[in-house]
Amino acid sequence: MSTVSTVNGGISFWYADRGTPLAREPLPGDATADICIVGGGYTGLWTAYYLKKAVPFLNITVLEAKFCGYGASGRNGGWLYNGIAGRDRYAKLHGHEAAVRLQQAMNETVDEVVRVAAEENIDADIHRGGVLEVAYTPAQLARLKDFHSVEIAFGETDRVLRGARETCERVNVTGAVGSTWTPHGARLHPVKLVQGLAATVEALGVTIHESTPVTEIKPKHAHTPYGTVRAPYILRCTEGFTANLKGQRRTWLPMNSSMIATEPLPESVWDTIGWDGRETLGDMAHAYMYAQRTADDRIALGGRGVPYRFGSGTDNDGRTQPATIEALRDILVRFFPATAGARIDHAWSGVLGVPRDWCATVTLDRSTGLGWAGGYVGSGVATTNLAARTLRDLIQQDSGQSGPTELTALPWVGHKVRRWEPEPFRWLGVHGMYAAYRAADRRELTSPRAGTDPVATAADRLAGRH
Ligand SMILES: Cc1cc2nc3c(=O)[nH]c(=O)nc-3n(C[C@H](O)[C@H](O)[C@H](O)COP(=O)(O)OP(=O)(O)OC[C@H]3O[C@@H](n4cnc5c(N)ncnc54)[C@H](O)[C@@H]3O)c2cc1C
Repeated sequence: MSTVSTVNGGISFWYADRGTPLAREPLPGDATADICIVGGGYTGLWTAYYLKKAVPFLNITVLEAKFCGYGASGRNGGWLYNGIAGRDRYAKLHGHEAAVRLQQAMNETVDEVVRVAAEENIDADIHRGGVLEVAYTPAQLARLKDFHSVEIAFGETDRVLRGARETCERVNVTGAVGSTWTPHGARLHPVKLVQGLAATVEALGVTIHESTPVTEIKPKHAHTPYGTVRAPYILRCTEGFTANLKGQRRTWLPMNSSMIATEPLPESVWDTIGWDGRETLGDMAHAYMYAQRTADDRIALGGRGVPYRFGSGTDNDGRTQPATIEALRDILVRFFPATAGARIDHAWSGVLGVPRDWCATVTLDRSTGLGWAGGYVGSGVATTNLAARTLRDLIQQDSGQSGPTELTALPWVGHKVRRWEPEPFRWLGVHGMYAAYRAADRRELTSPRAGTDPVATAADRLAGRH
C-alpha cells in the first residue's frame, strides 16, 4: 500500500471528487433580514430550507465564512443514520419515554432526508443499506450486545444481531465475532448533499453570502468585517468553529476527526470483502472507526487521530497529521487485508462540536431572538435536519404563527450545559481521555475477558460522557 501520492487536505476527498467551488459574493454592506443564519453547513441550510418552505415570503440571509459545505458537512463519513449524541443522558434527565420520542424522531429523520433529497432532485449517491457495527474482541462483543439491547429498549425493534459467520457474509471484517445492524441508515456523498441543499435554498429565494466571517453575534445583530446584518432572529449554526466567535471560546470543543479514501478497488478485492449491501460500517472500539463503500467503489474510512488542537484550534483546509494517516491505514488493512496493496488517494480532517456533557442541543432564546443548534459530536448528518425543523417550529411558535409541536417538546430543546475548562485543562483532559481509550483498545485486543477495560470506563466518567 502506498501513501506517497496521498493528497493531504484540500478540504476533503469529496471536494477532490467534485471540484472546489468558487465562493458566492460576500456581504456587500449593512443589510436587514427577517432571519439571519450564521454558517452554511447542513444545520444552516436545512434551517433556511424549512423556514422558507413554511413561510415563502421570509427574507432569509445565510452568512458563511468560506463557502457552503466548508466545514464538517463537506468532510464527513457520509453516514446518514439515526444516532443522536446525548440520548441516554436525556433519558436520565427527562425520562425514558421522552428519549424514546427523540429516538423515534431520529429514525424518521433518516427517511425525511432521503425524501427531500429525492423531491428536490439532489443526487447525493444515497444508498439505504442500513448501519452495520461489528465487534472483533470479546470486550467489544459484550459492549455490542449491551448496545443492541439498549437500542431495542429505545424502540428500535427492527434491529438485528448477527453472529460471526453471518457478519462476515455481509462484510468480511477480519476477526469479526458479531455485529448489530439497523435499517435506519444510509450511505451518502456529503458534498453532493450540501451543495444540492445550497442550490435548492438559493432557488427558493434565500440569500447566501460566502467569504463572510461573522465576528460577533449579538441580539438582532450579526457583525462581519463588511457590514452588519440586522434581523429579529440570528441563528448560530457554526458547530466545530463556534469557538472563533467572540464570547464562545469555551462553548463547544472542536474535536478532530480524520479520514482516508482508497483508490477505487478492483473486483478481485471486493470479491474477498463482500459489502454488497453498502451498509455504513463501524466498530465497537473506544476510539472507534467508521467507513463507507463509496459509489465509485473506494473505501472511505475515518477515526479520531489526534483528537484536539490546543486552544480550540482548527485544521488548515483539512490537513491531517501523517501519523493519523498511518493509523487509519493500519485499521483499514487490519479490517481488510486484501486492501494491503491499495493506494490511499486522499486524507483529510475536520472538526465536530462537542459540548461539555456530550449532548446535542437546539435552542431559541425567546427574550433575545438568538438561536443555535449543534454539539452533535460525531452524529450530525441526520441530526442537523431534525435540528432545522425544530428551529423552524420554535421560530413559528415565537412569532405566533403556531403553537408548540411534537418537535419543540423533544427533550434536547433548550438544554443548558456548562462551558469547557480553560486551557491547559481542556487539552490535557481530551488528550488524556483518548490516550486512555487507545490503551484500553490495545488491551482489549489481546485480552480474552469479555468486560470493558476499566481504564476506558474511568475515562468516560472523567470526561462526563456517562
Ligand atoms: C471527518 C468527519 C466525519 C464525520 N462523519 C460523520 C458521519 O459519517 N455521520 C454523521 O452523522 N456525522 C458525521 N460527522 C459530523 C457531521 O458532519 C456534522 O455534525 C455536521 O456536518 C454538522 O453540520 P453543521 O452545519 O452544524 O456544521 P458545519 O458543517 O461544520 O458547518 C458550519 C459552517 O459554519 C461556517 N462558519 C463557522 N464559523 C463561522 C462564522 N464565524 N461566520 C460565518 N460562518 C461560519 C463554517 O465555515 C461552516 O461552513 C463527521 C464530522 C467530521 C469532521
